[in-house]
Amino acid sequence: MKAQPPASHFINGAYVEDTSGTLIDVIYPATGEVIAQVHAATPAVVDQALASAKAAQGEWAAMSGTERGRVLRRAADIIRARNRDLSVLETLDTGKPLQETLVADATSGADALEYFGGLAGALTGEHIPLGGGDFVYTVREPLGVCVGIGAWNYPTQIACWKASPALACGNAMVFKPSETTPLGALKVAEILHEAGLPAGIFNVVQGMGEVGASLVTDPRVAKVSLTGSVPTGQKVYAAAAAEMKHVTMELGGKSPMIVFDDANIEDAVGGAILGNFYSSGQVCSNGTRVFVQKGIKEAFLSRLKERVEAAVIGDPLDEATNFGPMVSEGQLGIVQRYIDKGVEEGARLVTGGARLNRDGFYIQPTVFADVTDDMVIAREEIFGPVMSVLDFDDEAEAIARANDTPYGLAGGVFTADLTRGHRVVGALQAGSCWINTYNLAPVEAPFGGVKMSGVGRENSKAAIEHYSQLKSVYVAMGPVDAPF
Ligand code: NAD
Repeated sequence: MKAQPPASHFINGAYVEDTSGTLIDVIYPATGEVIAQVHAATPAVVDQALASAKAAQGEWAAMSGTERGRVLRRAADIIRARNRDLSVLETLDTGKPLQETLVADATSGADALEYFGGLAGALTGEHIPLGGGDFVYTVREPLGVCVGIGAWNYPTQIACWKASPALACGNAMVFKPSETTPLGALKVAEILHEAGLPAGIFNVVQGMGEVGASLVTDPRVAKVSLTGSVPTGQKVYAAAAAEMKHVTMELGGKSPMIVFDDANIEDAVGGAILGNFYSSGQVCSNGTRVFVQKGIKEAFLSRLKERVEAAVIGDPLDEATNFGPMVSEGQLGIVQRYIDKGVEEGARLVTGGARLNRDGFYIQPTVFADVTDDMVIAREEIFGPVMSVLDFDDEAEAIARANDTPYGLAGGVFTADLTRGHRVVGALQAGSCWINTYNLAPVEAPFGGVKMSGVGRENSKAAIEHYSQLKSVYVAMGPVDAPF
């Protein structure tokens, strides 16, 4: 199996190579084989990318929003037409089952390109009338050169979610994918250029954290949007603050899902499966603390066990497979250590827990019950297929415990009582909440966290605020009234 791109980087409208950069193996998580190799960007490559973005941005910003939007919408069409090929590539890059990548990755990227492409022509300032005929008008301006830094769980989606609003607003972007999954973003760059994007407006450079760090501190960069872990977010936010750069931080979580005893058990179990095992649990907004009201605890657990054990684990390229490997040997090791910790701390292993005896980085979908709030598996983000089920007596207790975390990315509630559903999500400290479903993230809705889970919002009209700035222009219609 090979997925070698023509070169490591995409800069100024073309593939660029510099073999003096550190060699990065791209590993297919289902087999462990090396399917491609790329080189990390050297300082010269980083400089070339930033220089091309800086040089091209002004002309792109000077085009009408409708013209910019047309390019993005064309790219969306190309992505949809090539969805199968892009999905296979995403599966090779991440190990996620093709059954998922066909519907959740390139297509979700296309949604973002289409949405922000449509919005680009509608981005305006406003007119503010003042006394005496004076007025202020505001101009919505791009920020300039933006940097996007991605995580490895949704490489194509993350590249598109950052590029779409940035480019719609007239910015240029240099995007650094995760070193674990470098392939999808290169295809996004190729397709954007095929759709008519001017050279230099969207560039991709590869590399580890140090390449990301060098992008963040470069004085040509006006804004950084990171999808990653909280510790990385803290470093990037601090580095950006030194020069007062704009940031969007899409970070980790330990989100609660609260299941009341009047909930439809099939739906709640379905929500818990979606919110813990999709993408082998490698989803930032996962509801990994499932609080189940005591009255339905055993019924919930027995149905959950049945359904989890029916997962089809196997070759991700087989469309019947619905649960694939972890992205890397390293991530598998992290998950195994958390599972050992859960057993050691006395949580009840309901199902799963073991590495599969086959090639690749497979671990079973795992459910712990009788988890308590102080256990490490209930406090730390695992970023793998490990669900903790905790029980509770009443609503106030569930809310207090759900909020007792430094994170605040997401939260969900399952109940037949809609009044209670709204009341509970109203009290949750979280950026995205779901009532009687979980983990849907359509481009039309803002997405992002509160507390340690992040700053800013992606998707929706809210993202425009994070990729543009307002200039206020005061226009006087009468004489200047100076004191002397
Ligand atoms: P990570 O923080 O290790 O790396 C994220 C990216 O940051 C990578 O591209 C990495 O190379 C880069 N990086 C690392 N150090 C850097 C530095 N000092 N300066 C600049 N860039 C640096 O995260 P990961 O392991 O790739 O992804 C998993 C994490 O991402 C989880 O915590 C998960 O919750 C989070 N995540 C959040 C969202 C969201 O939208 N909120 C989505 C997906 C993943």
